[in-house]
Amino acid sequence: MLSGFLNTQRLQTRIVGTFLGLLLLIQAVSYWFVQRSVEDHTRTVVRSELVTGERVFKRLLEQNHDQLKQATEVLAADFGFRAAIASGDAETVQSALENHGDRIQASLALFADPSFKLKGATSDEATRFLTAVRNHAQSAQSSEPVDGQAAEVDERRYQIDLIDGQPYQIVAVPVRAPALIGWVGMAFRLDTRLLLDMQQLSGLEVALAHRQGAKTQVAMATVPAGLWPSLLPDAAVAAPIDKASAPSSRLTDLETDEGTYSALVVPLTGSEGRSDATVVLLRSVDQAMSTYHQLQRTLLILTGLGLLAFGIGSVVTARRITTPLRRLSNAARRLGSGEYGVTLTTRASGEIGELAQSLESMRQAIQHREVEIRRLAFQDALTDLPNREQFRHDLRKSIGHNAASGTPCAILLMDMDRFKHVNDVLGHRFGDRLLRAVAERLRQEALQGQHAVLARLSGDEFAVLLPNADASAAAPVAQRIHQVLERPFVLDDHNVDLSAGIGVTTCPEHGTDADLLLSRAEVAMYVAKERQAGTVVYHAGLDSSSEESLTLLSELRQAVEHNQLRLFLQPKVCLRSSQIIGAEALVRWQHPTRGMVPPMRFIPFAEQTGFIRALTMWILGEVAAMARQVADEGQHLKIAVNLSTRDLMDQDLPSKVEAILQRHQVDPTLIVLEITESAIMDDPQRALQTLNRLHSLGLKLSIDDFGTGYSSLAYLKRLPVDELKIDRSFVMNMETDLQDAKIVHSTIELAHNLGLSVVAEGVEGAKHWKLLAGLGCDEAQGYFIAKPMPAADFLPWLKDWHAPDTTQEELGTAFAALT
Ligand code: C2E
Ligand code: CA
Ligand code: CA
Repeated sequence: MLSGFLNTQRLQTRIVGTFLGLLLLIQAVSYWFVQRSVEDHTRTVVRSELVTGERVFKRLLEQNHDQLKQATEVLAADFGFRAAIASGDAETVQSALENHGDRIQASLALFADPSFKLKGATSDEATRFLTAVRNHAQSAQSSEPVDGQAAEVDERRYQIDLIDGQPYQIVAVPVRAPALIGWVGMAFRLDTRLLLDMQQLSGLEVALAHRQGAKTQVAMATVPAGLWPSLLPDAAVAAPIDKASAPSSRLTDLETDEGTYSALVVPLTGSEGRSDATVVLLRSVDQAMSTYHQLQRTLLILTGLGLLAFGIGSVVTARRITTPLRRLSNAARRLGSGEYGVTLTTRASGEIGELAQSLESMRQAIQHREVEIRRLAFQDALTDLPNREQFRHDLRKSIGHNAASGTPCAILLMDMDRFKHVNDVLGHRFGDRLLRAVAERLRQEALQGQHAVLARLSGDEFAVLLPNADASAAAPVAQRIHQVLERPFVLDDHNVDLSAGIGVTTCPEHGTDADLLLSRAEVAMYVAKERQAGTVVYHAGLDSSSEESLTLLSELRQAVEHNQLRLFLQPKVCLRSSQIIGAEALVRWQHPTRGMVPPMRFIPFAEQTGFIRALTMWILGEVAAMARQVADEGQHLKIAVNLSTRDLMDQDLPSKVEAILQRHQVDPTLIVLEITESAIMDDPQRALQTLNRLHSLGLKLSIDDFGTGYSSLAYLKRLPVDELKIDRSFVMNMETDLQDAKIVHSTIELAHNLGLSVVAEGVEGAKHWKLLAGLGCDEAQGYFIAKPMPAADFLPWLKDWHAPDTTQEELGTAFAALT
């Protein structure tokens, strides 16, 4: 969006285009204007030159006429001449005419009597002029001064007569003695000299045209003869022209080979008032304009230079604007794509500089926020360690690297034991400080010198990524973590003992997907916690797949409603009498598609979600029904039910149990509740309350998996328990491991000393049986006797059961010595 707005290429073109366009427009308009003014002006000048030319020409004709007239009058007044006429001396008249005519360069001189009979002439042609002379004489007579006033305008002064196609100026003067005795006439032929005079005086070209029959043609002109045919304007051809008409109506333009001429047609008065001759005054427009052409050229050059300068100027200006804009727009694009690291600098000042500064502070703010967001998103606020997201990210990166190099990597996932208890008893603030201390100790002591990533995933859950380690390399690290946690944490005079369960997965052995590795590590960790085993490396037996577990969890809620849970029973035998004296209730999940799901796959999750309470209630109901059935069969059997921490934290558990037992009319002393040490230790105070109430109802209590936790004997003493159940890990190994055998032995001793009975679980063979019996163990449970079986199979199985014969079993001497 921003980049579209800042399309600087377009902006630059627009700026340059606009400025150049405007300039061009202004220049064009002013050029046009100047051109028009020049043309108008030229035309006005030409016109006034022509009009002046007309006056000059007429003045020339006047002068000619006046000279002619004066000279003729001198002759007419000459005494000798008159005497010669009177005496009829034709010869003298003839010579006087010749002399006079020559003097004024007249073309012809004649003398006629009052009745216009030719009496003498300087040319044989004179008769042709006679008519013209008579016309002049008559008009002179008619315009004789009236009251001494001359006619205002003497039209005759400009009169041109055409005689044999030649233009003449003619005067007629009366000869009186004192009565009229005749007329002297003189003719003056208009020739090129007159035109050249005219040209010199006015600077105009002059052409003389006259009518010959119906046609008008040029008689003479100051321009080359080649142009003559084009010299006749329509006005000159159209006859007659009104002499009085205004000059403007007689003005016209002529296009000739030599260019445009402005022409003024001047009609000359002809004989008998007709205008047979016309003078055309010509002025070359091009010539008149030529002075301006230089001006126009200069103007054009200036316009060109102006455009160039303007173009360069506007390009430079546009660049000055668009170059920083382009840089800013690039920077904005970079910001858009998430590159916040590059500082935005510009030398531009003014608005662009301000814009750049705004963008820069925006960038800094975004960068700052980005860092903050990343910190919030990827860092744990409490410990400043990477959080789950960051850890997953690092893990994925490491998986990618390792896939390329073929080296393994390992994850250690740890969860503090009983941390909730710390929170509940000492408060969350204390809990937070403790977590910080744990993080510090892990970093400073457990992982020091290790190439490792430590992260806090949630609550009391930490994870370690060992980028180049397999399971065997991870083991010592896990070991060290346990070691550093062994030392109590001292905070505000509180001594806190912490321990953790650690689950280990390695890539690629346990998966190549970060989430899969994490969830499998979680499964292993829960097992480690459950078994108090410290560290557990994941294997398929723990959980065939963690995704499966997740789905199971969501399906678990439906399991009870859809009656998918099954009650299994595993018998317990009395080692003294070899009689079946009870059974442990173990739940199974008959999944519609997965088949029989073992409890370790869903019990930990049920505990996590709290769903375990509903599950326990279901089992208690089933067990009560079973106990009722057993009692009805006349059998006396104890049935044990497993309880989890969540159950113990339920204050209503005793009354709920009581209600169930009452509903089925079951003797509470026939029900044993198996509780793990850790379930009690999570909140001993509360557990003790619940246990006391259950005990007072008559139920028997058994400490399950004894030996895996770190029972405090002091607690044990105060607990209302009846039985210890030695963990199967000791029992299963006791025939090979003397140490384990000793533990079993001393546990039996301890229990008996505390007045408790002892159950051994995990009895898998005849040797176990014999050894346990020899050590004085009270009861045994295990595959050697029977695997857990559906509740319905139990009573039929019981009927068929025979105690095994173990008398032939050979125990090693070392073991025999124990008994
Ligand atoms: P647990 O309470 O220690 O139960 C004994 C487990 O040991 C049972 O596994 C049983 O099948 C197994 N076992 C018995 N004899 C032998 C033997 O000779 N060798 C070996 N290797 N194992 C033997 P199961 O049924 O898979 O149960 C596992 C755990 O699941 C139980 O451990 C218990 O903690 C939990 N669990 C099972 N059912 C319930 C239940 O209804 N409620 C609760 N809260 N937990 C249950
Ligand atoms: Ca149990
Ligand atoms: Ca057990």
